[in-house]
Amino acid sequence: MRTLARLFALSPAVLALVACAATGPAPRPAPRPAAVTPAPIPAPSPDADARFNAFVRDFRATALAAGIRPETYDRSMAGLSLNTHIQDLNLRQPEFSQAIWDYLDVAASPKRVADGQAALTANDAMLSGIEARYGVPKSVLVAIWGLETNYGTLMGHYDMFEALATLGYDGPRAALGRRELLAALKMEQAGPFKPEEMVSSWAGAFGQTQFMPSTWLAHAVDGDGDGKKDLWHSPADALASTAAMLAEDGWQQGEGWGYEVRLPANFPYAESGRDNPQPLAHWRQLGVTTALGAPLPQGPDKGSANGSDNNSDSGSIFLPAGARGPAFLLLHNFHVIMRYNAASSYALGVGLLADRISGLSGVIATWPRDEEPLSRDDRLAFQRDLATLGYDPGAIDGMLGPKVSDALRAYQSAHRLLPDGFPTHDLLMRLEREIAAKASTQGG
Ligand code: CA
Repeated sequence: MRTLARLFALSPAVLALVACAATGPAPRPAPRPAAVTPAPIPAPSPDADARFNAFVRDFRATALAAGIRPETYDRSMAGLSLNTHIQDLNLRQPEFSQAIWDYLDVAASPKRVADGQAALTANDAMLSGIEARYGVPKSVLVAIWGLETNYGTLMGHYDMFEALATLGYDGPRAALGRRELLAALKMEQAGPFKPEEMVSSWAGAFGQTQFMPSTWLAHAVDGDGDGKKDLWHSPADALASTAAMLAEDGWQQGEGWGYEVRLPANFPYAESGRDNPQPLAHWRQLGVTTALGAPLPQGPDKGSANGSDNNSDSGSIFLPAGARGPAFLLLHNFHVIMRYNAASSYALGVGLLADRISGLSGVIATWPRDEEPLSRDDRLAFQRDLATLGYDPGAIDGMLGPKVSDALRAYQSAHRLLPDGFPTHDLLMRLEREIAAKASTQGG
């Protein structure tokens, strides 16, 4: 393994964030690692090493056909070895996912808020320039910086080529690993960068805001004007690139990510759901207010003739912990943040951290902290049970996303339960009892 340009310690806080971000669908741009608890590193087998070396040898033709110079490939890939620690992380399925409130406690901790305010003050001129150019608020950019690398202090310490070659060689991320390996080689040529300065997370995400190589190729910009797009050493480059990416993904200027709301007692919970937007007028009519009880604000007037193309006229009611927890009205920009990392917990973390950095208050309603998170086995059982009972929970993969919430809301509505779409142990037991009762009826 090459001498690495920089070495970083991994803090439990960042590992916890990283673990939680793995509960959503495959994220873009950075595939988030699963829980990184210390584990014995398996010894590489000679057979696996030989097959890995054959992969590195064979991939050369693919790379050269894609325009990589032979000397680039040989310089970057020579002497790489299969990293069994990365293989181990790649295959790991975390047994327990973190509760959203525990995740948010860490994501927007007082320390992270204070560090974010200090980072914003220290870089105010640079951030103001980026905000003016791309229309993305500096508080959101600083929040992403804080969640991705704790403001540039935890950027990963793996050799990017070794990490991506290990992922591309075998396992569940092989296609992504190969695609990103090719992108990393193109990036090395375009930078130009020295291979030894290209350090990343085990999943290949790199720099102050954890881009993937393909994201760098598509979106990176030179924020400080020195002619290079160096996301490792230049916060201006990293934050401008992040802003450019969010702008290209459709960030609505002058609009926030969303805000906490208060629901009326008779709220029709079947209409809630992260991906079920309705006109704000509809929510107002139902009696939804801000968390402090004020009328929902009007969306900013963007000057369109009839306002029909104005995304701020609609939003969805998101209940990340069910009816017993806080409710949020999500605007279009929440989904733009999710294109950066496809976990809704991450997007909510960015939004709430950005609010706190701007001096706004945190969440007002209380979280149902007595609710135990479901284990992976429980989550799989939940999906299987919904499918058995004729609902569509999507793939049986242990990931409880919007599809499971929709299926659960349908089940809850059909059984005259409060349809908040939040999977709990009580609901799982109810599903199992119902399945057992049906089986005994059919069997008798
Ligand atoms: Ca630069």
